[in-house]
Amino acid sequence: MTVLLISRSDSAATWAAELRRQAPDMPLKVWPDDIDGLDPASVTYVIAAKPPPGEIARYPNVKAVLSLWAGVDHITADPDFPAHLPIARMVESGLTNGMREFVMAQALAAHLKLPDYLNQQRQQLWRPEIRGPHGTEPLVEEVTVGILGLGVMGEACARALADFGFPVVGWARSPKDIPGVESLCGDDGLETLLSRSRILVNLLPRTDATEDILNADLFAKLPEGAYLINVGRGEHLVEADLLQALDSGQLAGATLDVFREEPLPGKHPFWTHPAITVTPHIASITRVRTGVGRLRAAIESFERGETPEGVVDPKAGY
Ligand code: NDP
Repeated sequence: MTVLLISRSDSAATWAAELRRQAPDMPLKVWPDDIDGLDPASVTYVIAAKPPPGEIARYPNVKAVLSLWAGVDHITADPDFPAHLPIARMVESGLTNGMREFVMAQALAAHLKLPDYLNQQRQQLWRPEIRGPHGTEPLVEEVTVGILGLGVMGEACARALADFGFPVVGWARSPKDIPGVESLCGDDGLETLLSRSRILVNLLPRTDATEDILNADLFAKLPEGAYLINVGRGEHLVEADLLQALDSGQLAGATLDVFREEPLPGKHPFWTHPAITVTPHIASITRVRTGVGRLRAAIESFERGETPEGVVDPKAGY
């Protein structure tokens, strides 16, 4: 058995070092340094982050691919990816808790209109009333947050926001039972969620069914002046529709962490738009320290003939 790490992310060397430290018994090889002389037939598991197209297909005896990230589109985008291979997406506490922190911070910032006050500071403007006339500023209890996707990430964020006092409505394919969170499904459920969401958080996976979902039709169903937090994928968002919705005032602002093209190109209008907060795909990162345990447990589970948590359903695409 050989476990091959194929990563084109900046953290590849950190992962290799931590895998060797925490799992010294794992027969690990690292692409591309260890490829010379490696028998492709010996590779049984691939740990992957944005593998080069065609690379995984070179190893005929792979039993499963383990993603270093929660999304698996960076693996399935490869036209030569062997469709029969199981893919385990990353599920680990550091990634989940990091997302919970980020979404909570952005929801609170949107609720408190912190981006607007920052813009005012840059112009040396003293206008306290952007949150409403003094004494009428809303508290979180009056600000419903809608969450698209109630999976590992969405559920953790929904629980935290509800615990903090926000009314929370979530949307998924199947109903959920999460304390303090209203769970909705289907087209009708989506309409209901949108009609109430002052803040909309996207935590859907990228699939054929979800691409372009953040579009003009959807924005029009939100209350006027709603705020968008997109931490799913750039392909969920129709960029021109967002700019239009911001210009018309239908949306008051947006925090965008993911983009169709990353890094976001230098001349992109999102960089300088006063109502857009841009972060460089850092909403949450798999923590190497906790992620290694997950990788090891998933491989052991596959070896026992079991299915670890987070194996992608090929029909659903996530
Ligand atoms: P999960 O697979 O656990 O959850 C996905 C959720 O989306 C599920 O609730 C699922 O419904 C729902 N869903 C999927 N398709 C549809 C659909 N067509 N209609 C309605 N609901 C749908 O994924 P995670 O929570 O782990 O991650 C979600 C996404 O977050 C990732 O795919 C990735 O794109 C993004 N992400 C971004 C990061 C960043 O730093 N920006 C970091 C980590 C993740 P059901 O529960 O019924 O199956």
